[in-house]
Amino acid sequence: MEGTYGDSTRSVKAVGAEAIAGQPVAPPPVPVSAYHLSPDEAQPLDTYGRSSNPTWRRLEGALAELEGASAALAFGSGMAAITSALRVLTGPGTRLVVPADGYYQVRRYASQYLVPQGVSVLEAGSAEMCAAASEADVVLAETPANPGLEVVDLHRLGMTCRERGATLIVDNTTATPLGQQPLSLGADLVVASATKALSGHSDLIAGYVAGSHPEMMSALESDRVLAGPILGPFEAWLVLRSLGSAGLRFERQCQNATAVAMLLRSHPAVRSVRYPGLPEDSAHEVAARQMRRFGGLVSVELADAAAVHALVERSALLVASTSFGGIHTSVDRRARWGDPVPDGFARLSMGIEDTDDLIADLGAALG
Ligand SMILES: *Cc1c(COP(=O)(O)O)cnc(C)c1O
Repeated sequence: MEGTYGDSTRSVKAVGAEAIAGQPVAPPPVPVSAYHLSPDEAQPLDTYGRSSNPTWRRLEGALAELEGASAALAFGSGMAAITSALRVLTGPGTRLVVPADGYYQVRRYASQYLVPQGVSVLEAGSAEMCAAASEADVVLAETPANPGLEVVDLHRLGMTCRERGATLIVDNTTATPLGQQPLSLGADLVVASATKALSGHSDLIAGYVAGSHPEMMSALESDRVLAGPILGPFEAWLVLRSLGSAGLRFERQCQNATAVAMLLRSHPAVRSVRYPGLPEDSAHEVAARQMRRFGGLVSVELADAAAVHALVERSALLVASTSFGGIHTSVDRRARWGDPVPDGFARLSMGIEDTDDLIADLGAALG
C-alpha cells in the first residue's frame, strides 16, 4: 500500500508525528543551542545545536521518505547543501562536471573555490552531460535545468557514471521529490534547495542532501558540524509544516504550468516556449520516462526585455521576482542575473492560483 500512495498522501504521511495520546498532532519547533548533559558524561543524542536538533530530525525523516533515501540532512540553504557535497566529494585532482545551463551560483562556487583547490572543473550543457561524464570523477547534474529546462537522461547518466566509478549528484530543486526521485534512477546523492516549491511560500531559505550511502552521509554530516551551514530550528519547522501541503501545491503548480505552456506555444508574441510536459518539447520523451510530474516552471522567450516588463505590468496576477516555487505566479527575466539566455527570456514559476484565472490574466497581458 505504502508504495502506491499519491503525492498528497505521501506529503501528509511524511510529516506525521507518532500517534501518542496527549502529544501534539503537529510537532512544535524545538529552538535550542545547548542540551542538558548527565553527570556520568554519557553522550546523549543531542548535545549542541550545531550538531543536531529534534526538529531537523523530523524534517530530515520526511525528506528522506519523499526522496526514497535512507537519510537526509538539512542545511541552511540550497547552496550550503550543494557546496558541502562538493567539498566532501572533491579534492585536488578530481575531475568535476557541473551544468553550463544550470544554477549559475554553482558554477561561480566551482571556479572561485574549487579550482584553486586543484579540482579540475568542466562546464557541460545538460544535453552533453553523458559525454562529459565519461571523463569525470564527480558529476553534478540538474534536471530540469534552471532556467532553460533542458532535461538530463538520469538513467543513462547513472549508467555512464557507474561504469567509470564516478559519483553522480543530482540537483532535484526544480522537479522536487514529488516530480522525480533521482536516487531510484541511479544518482548517488540528491542535493536541493527547499527554498522553492517544497517550502513554497517565498518566506524562507533552506536546503538538503539525501542519499543512501552511509559513509557519504556521515562525511556530509561531519562537514555540516565543522563548517556550520545549519538551518535554524524555526525555519526547519516551517519547512516541515509546508511539506504537508507540498503535494497539493505542486499538483496545482504543474496543472497551471501545463495550461500556461499550451497558451504560450500558440501565441504570436512568443518566440519559443519550453516545458518538459509539452508533447512537442525536445525533452518530453526522456522527461516522461523519469518524471512523475513535469514541474511548475515554464520558460519562454519574448521579443525583448521590454516585452517581459510589459507582460508583468499589464497582468493583475504575475509578480516580478526571482526564485520560484511559491504560491504566487512569478516572472524572472534571467539575463539580468547573467544567465546565458536571450534578453527576452523569462522563467515563469507557477503559483497556486485557479488555472482559469491565470490563463485569462496571462492571455490578456500578452495582448
Ligand atoms: C535556488 C537554487 C539553488 C540554490 O538554493 P538556495 O536555497 O537559494 O541556496 C540551487 N539549485 C537550483 C536548481 C536552484 O534553483
